[in-house]
Amino acid sequence: MLPRDFTEEQSMFRAAYRRFLAAEIVPHMERWREQRIVDREAFLKAGAEGYLMVWPDEKYGGMGDNDFRFEQVILEETAYARVGDWYNSLHSRLVGPYLTRFGNEEQCMRFLPRCVKGECILAIAMTEPDAGSDLAGMRTHAEEHGDHWLLNGAKTYISNGINADLVIVAAKTDPQNNPHHMTLFLVERGMAGFERGRNLVKMGQKAQDTAELFFNNVKVPKANVLGMPGEGFKYLMKGLAEERLIGACGALSSAQLSYDLAAAYAHERKAFGKTLAGFQNTQFKLAELRTELDVAQCFIDQCVRAINAGALTAVDAAKAKLIASELQIKSADLGVQLHGGAGYMDEYPISRQFTDARIATIYAGSSEVMKIIISRDCLSEKYEPFNTRNF
Ligand SMILES: Cc1cc2nc3c(=O)[nH]c(=O)nc-3n(C[C@H](O)[C@H](O)[C@H](O)COP(=O)(O)OP(=O)(O)OC[C@H]3O[C@@H](n4cnc5c(N)ncnc54)[C@H](O)[C@@H]3O)c2cc1C
Repeated sequence: MLPRDFTEEQSMFRAAYRRFLAAEIVPHMERWREQRIVDREAFLKAGAEGYLMVWPDEKYGGMGDNDFRFEQVILEETAYARVGDWYNSLHSRLVGPYLTRFGNEEQCMRFLPRCVKGECILAIAMTEPDAGSDLAGMRTHAEEHGDHWLLNGAKTYISNGINADLVIVAAKTDPQNNPHHMTLFLVERGMAGFERGRNLVKMGQKAQDTAELFFNNVKVPKANVLGMPGEGFKYLMKGLAEERLIGACGALSSAQLSYDLAAAYAHERKAFGKTLAGFQNTQFKLAELRTELDVAQCFIDQCVRAINAGALTAVDAAKAKLIASELQIKSADLGVQLHGGAGYMDEYPISRQFTDARIATIYAGSSEVMKIIISRDCLSEKYEPFNTRNF
């Protein structure tokens, strides 16, 4: 594989975070999967060690280092340690930055220090029973009443839905029914009328609490409006490139693990007098996958450089999410196939790799949505043929 350009500090951070996962997270994972929710202590411990939110300014308790490679390290190590269903990066890098990106100083000071410590767990609620890929179809709405907004509606499939102390809720706010006129509300645990529904039973990602949320005449003070009323849809779109890169980094690391599990098993398992690795079919399948993983890793590392330079486009982020999530499934599927019957047994890690992977091409924008974004670009009138580009 081609060299990757992490700094010495980031490599040390990786080694330390790996040790933290092995000591504080991995040993509890089975229990968390059985109870279908991570103990809140996981967030508190990570916060105490400085692994929860590295990017916020020191005044909010963070390290103030916005180099995305720290998050890439966290995403890769979390997935490779098979604790991806902790969803720590959803709290720290997917939802957290909404506060600094669109919130005001008072909101940042009120919430971020507790988020960095793991005392205030974050979630974001966009999806509804009748609106997923097509967010403009959402029904949750809010009306302005003097010093507050009155929020009504229901959300579903919300990650950290049970554990969350602060939920960024997207709602329609235009009495004229403009479907893109949305506002983001900071809904806090304990607000009257904010209720949790079921902690949904899932195919994989079992430790993650994915829940229904209900809002019945929730009085949200104006101080809890995130950014400008009516701008919520644009805010959601602005965060998407980074969110998709987050998804891509984790997905590819999970694909790398499935490859390693498959290759190790192929060396061990014997059939017809030789190891599986001795069959040309196994060699070709693994060679093809190894190549795809290495090529994808280069692309994603390049996207990380781009985001650090403030130059990651929505289209490139969509390509990263598409390739990484498809490879996550492909790699887990090949791993199960090479394991034979053992691959279907939960006692083999590849089995859970497979069920955990299945969601990758659906959430954070499905593969079809990624292809819509990419095709709009590569088939547009503005598309530049290769030999006309300025390299
Ligand atoms: C484990 C998990 C965690 C999640 N966490 C969160 C969360 O924290 N917050 C949140 O808001 N949501 C969350 N979601 C919801 C997730 O983002 C949605 O499930 C996803 O956006 C797809 O929406 P949908 O389920 O309504 O599917 P639909 O939008 O109904 O899509 C169904 C199928 O139709 C395809 N499709 C849709 N539109 C088109 C089109 N124009 N062209 C071609 N094909 C199309 C889709 O690609 C998909 O294959 C989570 C979901 C899961 C399962």
